[in-house]
Amino acid sequence: MKFLIVLILLLVVVGLIAFRYRKQIQTALYFWRMYRNMRQMTKPPGEKQIDKPATNAALVRCSGCGDWVEETNVLKMGNKISYCSAACIEKSANRV
Ligand SMILES: [Zn+2]
Repeated sequence: MKFLIVLILLLVVVGLIAFRYRKQIQTALYFWRMYRNMRQMTKPPGEKQIDKPATNAALVRCSGCGDWVEETNVLKMGNKISYCSAACIEKSANRV
């Protein structure tokens, strides 16, 4: 029961402080919202431009044709040699 009374007193005090400084709180909230809006306005295009290539796999150069291929689509032959397709492997195998 004591805890409840303390809680109510605390709420009253907080309420009084909020009431007393409502203008300051309003301006603070206003600035915070403005800041958030600014971040939202600047972020989405930047995220789309930067994140999409970044989230994609790294590009690896095909040892056969020299094309840049995403690492996930690459056919690897050992550690350093990678090909974009089976056709490229055949081509380079014929060459050697
Ligand atoms: Zn290739």
